[in-house]
Amino acid sequence: MLILSGKPVFGGIARGKLFYFQQDENEVTKRLIKDTELELKRYEYAKDSAIAELEELYTTALDKVGENEASIFIIHKMLIEDNAFHTSVTERIVDDHFCADYAVAQTARDLTRTFSSLGSSYIKERAADLKDVCDRLIRHIQNKNEKRIELQEKVILCADELMPSETMQMDLSKVLAIVTRYGSSNSHTAILARTMNIPAIIGIGAEKLSMLRDMEAIVDGYNGEVYIEPDENALRRLSQLEEAEAKKREMLKRFKGRKNITLDGTEIQVFANIAGLNDLNYAIENDAGGIGLFRSEFLYLGRNQMPDEDEQFYNYRQVLERMGGKKVIIRTMDAGADKNIKSFGLAKEENPALGVRSIRLCLLRPEMFKTQLRALLRASVYGDLAIMLPLITASEEIHRAKRLIEEAKEQLRAKGVQYNENIEIGIMVETPAAVLMSDDFAGEVDFFSIGTNDLEQYIMALDRQNLTLESYFENRSHEPLLRAMRIVCDNAHKHGIPVGICGELGADLTLTEEFLKMGIDEISVTPSQVLPLRQRIRTIRLEDRKQLFDPAAVKA
Ligand code: PEP
Ligand code: MG
Repeated sequence: MLILSGKPVFGGIARGKLFYFQQDENEVTKRLIKDTELELKRYEYAKDSAIAELEELYTTALDKVGENEASIFIIHKMLIEDNAFHTSVTERIVDDHFCADYAVAQTARDLTRTFSSLGSSYIKERAADLKDVCDRLIRHIQNKNEKRIELQEKVILCADELMPSETMQMDLSKVLAIVTRYGSSNSHTAILARTMNIPAIIGIGAEKLSMLRDMEAIVDGYNGEVYIEPDENALRRLSQLEEAEAKKREMLKRFKGRKNITLDGTEIQVFANIAGLNDLNYAIENDAGGIGLFRSEFLYLGRNQMPDEDEQFYNYRQVLERMGGKKVIIRTMDAGADKNIKSFGLAKEENPALGVRSIRLCLLRPEMFKTQLRALLRASVYGDLAIMLPLITASEEIHRAKRLIEEAKEQLRAKGVQYNENIEIGIMVETPAAVLMSDDFAGEVDFFSIGTNDLEQYIMALDRQNLTLESYFENRSHEPLLRAMRIVCDNAHKHGIPVGICGELGADLTLTEEFLKMGIDEISVTPSQVLPLRQRIRTIRLEDRKQLFDPAAVKA
């Protein structure tokens, strides 16, 4: 028996076979070929297919996001068709006898070096495009499809790291547990695992995770341990643990149907975070009072084409109908950073967390944004829907988004389509700028929801994706974040709007009392945390001023 340890991300015990997912990297080896004619044909054939694929991507993108954004595929096509590029590849095949994929890789390497040394950021971006194009070309030469995780049976999924788009491509009903070598507990794959009730462990540290493929294992998501080929002792201990946890879950069921009310009578809203229709079941099962965060970008992730207006509408409508009149806050598409949506053709960035992401991307692609806004507005007549704008840093962004919402309404009106004219519009407070401007922003929107994941990352200058920094997240006091949150609560209430939390910290029961005392009105957590949070709220007495956390008093 071998035991591997990592950081638990979501509790639960899972037994099964380990399935190792190899990341999608083009492996190109130098092979010298004799038949250069044949190799040239392979190259030409791959080039034609890559061009056809790019033309298709362009047409789809044109439809969905308009000429400006779609033009990236034309640029890619021009790069492949470029004479100098073509000559360089063919010379390497004919003169050096390199195999076609190696010839492309070498050409890419040389051109990228030249581009990168030229200084201008525009040219540097073209270097990223060139890499993208060459990867596509090499994939065609090697006859590979874009990598998808195809699961034939239920497995424990292992990988060095998983990107949200990869996670979204697979059939999650076949994933018993997730074990990764890297990753961080605030990454979106970790959040997704929690939301979907999938036991998960990150930072397992086993260099050769891949060698363990197909072995039988048990994942103990409570303690962050993976038992490979477990012995009798381990099996017995883990069954006991499983039983004890099942009892706890059973006990929590007592809290279903009860209010989230403090000992002295203050009612708090406890909502659930979801990423799509699949996890809605967990939200309902756990008696969530509403949906505090629907991460709508997950509808776009892991697919080659963007969902159209009708598909988005269908998803939103389902959520609203199934929540039966309870509040549903849908966040507009928050792509970028680790949520890389392939069909957007985003350029590589030096600092994607500070880059073209989230509301910035939506405002750069107004047609795409309006498609989502129309879908949301159409759905708004099926329940209590509120729209939430992510990553707001300036009033200007709120104004521009509101203008686009008005345009989307106008388009629906012109067609005689119904929508809720008074739909609530709120923002996520997840940047230091939003905290500092919250007095102004509160006068412009209907509600705030604090995204502690990003807010903490930006306040602390701590990359939420970086496993090496995980200990900072674990061992520190959250005081800088809490101070920012107090400012946000005060400003929200000064303007008479409610304020919630939708980041992962909302589920930290050691902070619940602190949150309630600063004035948080609603907390939205992963579905499995709804009942523990309800239980916790029911033990808190807000009037007991002695328990009030006062930083000044601590200092004195
Ligand atoms: C957050 O930043 O706290 C948040 C809820 O959004 P996400 O985790 O999707 O970035
Ligand atoms: Mg965020």
